[in-house]
Amino acid sequence: MGFIQKMAESAKQLGNQARDFSGIAGDKARDISKKSSELIEVTKMKYEMKKMEREMENNLAGIGALYYQQQSGQDDLTKELERLLSDTKELEKEMKELEKQIVELQPGASVCADCGKELPTGGKYCSFCGKQVVD
Ligand SMILES: [Zn+2]
Repeated sequence: MGFIQKMAESAKQLGNQARDFSGIAGDKARDISKKSSELIEVTKMKYEMKKMEREMENNLAGIGALYYQQQSGQDDLTKELERLLSDTKELEKEMKELEKQIVELQPGASVCADCGKELPTGGKYCSFCGKQVVD
């Protein structure tokens, strides 16, 4: 099996994988009241965010591989593509939700007005979208 085929095969699996974000991105984070556990929660959420970012990268690579194979072969991969696309959109929504919760748990941290990502202290430009920081 060639590289592209392998990529497309694993991409087909991606859409079927059940993800377990329920405990993290759900209501659980909002119920926490103690400061110390908030800190642990933020660390956990940031770790979860990293995992989701990796999954996002995998999904996007998978979409590319499926699309490429679809364009160059006889395989009809429309269903797999659609499933992976909707799965990825769902993932993006969950990432935004998690991002919001992380920000809510860190009232001191400043956030980019444009993309909502956390800003490094004293930075003049957002390191994610490049927008200038306004106070
Ligand atoms: Zn930004």
